[in-house]
Amino acid sequence: MNRIQSYSNYDFDRAGELREVDTKFREVSYIPIFKNNFFIVTSALKDEVLMNIPLELTSFTTKKYFLGVSNNKEIWCIDLSEIELSTIANFISYSKLHCVRDCFHLINEREASLLAYAKGITNWNNTHQFCNNCGSKTIREEKGHRRKCINNLCNSLHFPRINPAVIVLIEYKPKNAPPLCLLNMHEKEYGYMCSLFSGFSEIGESLEDTVKREMKEEVNLAVTNIEYIASQPWSFPSSLMLGFSAKTESKNFIIDNKEIKKAQWFSANQINKMVQENKLVISKKDSISNYIIQLWVEKNS
Ligand SMILES: [Zn+2]
Repeated sequence: MNRIQSYSNYDFDRAGELREVDTKFREVSYIPIFKNNFFIVTSALKDEVLMNIPLELTSFTTKKYFLGVSNNKEIWCIDLSEIELSTIANFISYSKLHCVRDCFHLINEREASLLAYAKGITNWNNTHQFCNNCGSKTIREEKGHRRKCINNLCNSLHFPRINPAVIVLIEYKPKNAPPLCLLNMHEKEYGYMCSLFSGFSEIGESLEDTVKREMKEEVNLAVTNIEYIASQPWSFPSSLMLGFSAKTESKNFIIDNKEIKKAQWFSANQINKMVQENKLVISKKDSISNYIIQLWVEKNS
């Protein structure tokens, strides 16, 4: 399977060295954002998320964050949330406002990555307007990648924080039968959508500790042979998903009935059959859960 993780900035130049210096690129493109949504121009020929918006509109706000450089162009995002939509419409023609996950099917992987990055950095700046050490205001530094407390007795520096979360495929190997994986089942009108089990890392835990604790809490299974598979940035708002597989010696799970409503063991062939019969959908296409389940099904079919 030759796939990449959705929302990864796999070949995008973040140009971190330019965050502390004035840059004078001839061309600057913006990703405008409005209350967590994006202006997508959809035409028969192309979908475009980068815009050359008029200078006058960019002067309406200081909420601009440098993302990087692409094709010798600076790429910024600009938060227009405090400006009336009717005013914005004088400068930007767009078909609709979309949130990233809802417009995932309209745009390509690269565009989705840029929008997720833009959404994450905008959200972080908006939610860190005040110092969590002394309560004073903070100001934007390094073009939106650092904030500094303005209280001279404090002057704390604040950097974007990412919250690690594990997502786990639990495998059981019966004697003389194909391996099984445990799926988290979400009831839908057509049947079920399935996903994997996940949870945030807590203070003082290694990722392996988190995998063991979360699987114990959610399905009451002891797991071993924990192996890393892949990661995915999840800027909704600030997580990093870390995908693992783990093995268990017992088929007898007990769901927690809070986060998990139903779980079920499946062989790869059973998953394929249910998908073909339209009774099962493997998580949303942009998720790492989808990636890991598909990978396991391909390996064990
Ligand atoms: Zn402070």
